[in-house]
Amino acid sequence: MDKKEFFAHLTDRMISLGAYKASVIPVADVETDESFRRLCEQNVCGNYGKNWACPPDAGEITELIARLRSYENILVWQTVGTLEDSYDFEGMLEAGRRHAGTINEARAFCPGEPFSRYLCLGAGGCSACDTCAKLTGEPCRRPDLMTPSLETYGVNVSRLAQAAGMKYINGQNTVTYFAAVLFDV
Ligand code: SF4
Repeated sequence: MDKKEFFAHLTDRMISLGAYKASVIPVADVETDESFRRLCEQNVCGNYGKNWACPPDAGEITELIARLRSYENILVWQTVGTLEDSYDFEGMLEAGRRHAGTINEARAFCPGEPFSRYLCLGAGGCSACDTCAKLTGEPCRRPDLMTPSLETYGVNVSRLAQAAGMKYINGQNTVTYFAAVLFDV
C-alpha cells in the first residue's frame, strides 16, 4: 500500500467508525497560535487546572507546538451530532460520547507499524477516566490514554477544518467535535 492508499484507508476507517468527515493533511498545513493559551487561562470550559491534559499541567504551549510540529502528517476527523435545539445538552453529551468512542477506536489501531509514534488530540479536557486524577491529587492514571485537546496544543481548529476540507460548524442545531492523530508515515 503506498502513502496515498494508506491515507485513504485511514480516512475510510474513521468514516466507518462514525466520523462525519475525515482527512489526512501535512502538519505543515496546520495553523497554530500561542495566544490560544490565554483563552484557556480564561477557563470558559472549566477545565483549567482541573485536568492533567489541560493547561497549565499539560505544559508550555511553545513546547507543545514544537512537539506537534515534529510530526509529518495529521489524520483529522469530525463527529457531528444533531440537536433538538440549542439547549439540547443531552444531545451534545451523546455526540461527545460518540466522538470519544471514535478517539478510542483510532487509538486502538495506532500502536505498531507503521505508527512508530503518534499523538492523539481531541476536544475539551481528557475524558479517559470518569474523574480525572488531577481532581483527587493523584498522578494521571492512564498516561497511555491521555488525550489533550487540539487547542491545548495551540491548534486553530477552525483553520484546521478549512485546511482539511471540512466545515467548522455544520448547520443550525448541530454540534461538531474534532479530533486528530499525528503520525510520521
Ligand atoms: S487519563 Fe485519566 S487521569 Fe489522565 S488526564 Fe485523562 S482523565 Fe485525567
